Amino acid sequence: MPAHLVDGKRVAKQVEEEVAAAIIRLGFQPVLVVVRVGNDPASEIYVRNKARKAEELGLRGDERIFPETLSEPDLLAEIDRLNRDQTVDGILVQLPLPKHIDPHRVIDAIDPAKDVDGFHPQNVGRLHLGRPALTPCTPAGVIRLLDACDLQIEGKHAVVIGRSDIVGKPVAALLLQRNATVTICHSRTRDLAAVARKADIVVAAIGKPFFVTAEMVKGGAAVIDVGINRIDASQASLVAHDEIKSALLAKNGHALVGDVDFVRVREVAAWITPVPGGVGPMTIAMLMSNTVKAAEWRRR
Ligand code: NAD
Repeated sequence: MPAHLVDGKRVAKQVEEEVAAAIIRLGFQPVLVVVRVGNDPASEIYVRNKARKAEELGLRGDERIFPETLSEPDLLAEIDRLNRDQTVDGILVQLPLPKHIDPHRVIDAIDPAKDVDGFHPQNVGRLHLGRPALTPCTPAGVIRLLDACDLQIEGKHAVVIGRSDIVGKPVAALLLQRNATVTICHSRTRDLAAVARKADIVVAAIGKPFFVTAEMVKGGAAVIDVGINRIDASQASLVAHDEIKSALLAKNGHALVGDVDFVRVREVAAWITPVPGGVGPMTIAMLMSNTVKAAEWRRR
């Protein structure tokens, strides 16, 4: 029997409903400020979507847009202003930043209590210590999706493929917090396929199309695909067995695929997330949830 599809849009909607209800309970409108430097087209879309979703759920979403030439001291000064502004609950600086700005210095400057991306070292430390923290949005979304599967995380063997600071490492920390036995695999892991095959839960966050094949997945596993890869006609052979992606590729000249060979892994796994429509929709929903959490914690 093919795996159950874990519907990220449906679970994200549930999170959004919880956020809207929490805002009514709070009795004030939490404020999220999204800072963008430069004109990266993808960042423009992300920032607009974040601000729009905030407004839709009853938060106030403000955009601060600066030219590519903004200096690092000027950006740090803006963050300092936002930190001190008592009406601001959440601050998110859209990455990547222009090359002349050190992202670490910028992240470190954000008040940890307003760090809704959960990237500040203080929040990262608190997450690893198992203390209350603002946790990174995509990893928090991964856990929500696993909770939507009919499976207990506790005691399961989870294999996280990818060790980035924004996805792999925090996913692993959150799974550990939920009492899974966690293995992190990365580009230097030996015989990754054999390690992955032992997993009850596989989280793929690599950034390589169809990296996870059916041979790497144990029967009955839950597979969460974080990867978002845009492929073009030159990679058509990769998706030749996938009718839907092949048709999209033929029609548009490009297609979005995950890190997991969805069609084949679906025959082996018990749960699987699609791309798009899996982890993607969760990220913004968890950002809204973090903003409400930050507002509640700070103003209480
Ligand atoms: P990254 O490039 O920072 O990290 C990739 C990780 O994969 C690294 O830790 C590396 O060790 C590992 N890796 C690379 N090649 C490997 C190999 N051959 N074998 C084993 N491991 C290997 O990427 P990231 O920022 O963590 O993002 C990963 C993917 O998730 C990307 O496709 C990205 O677009 C996607 N992503 C999606 C969302 C979302 O909202 N759905 C959010 C963030 C990232």
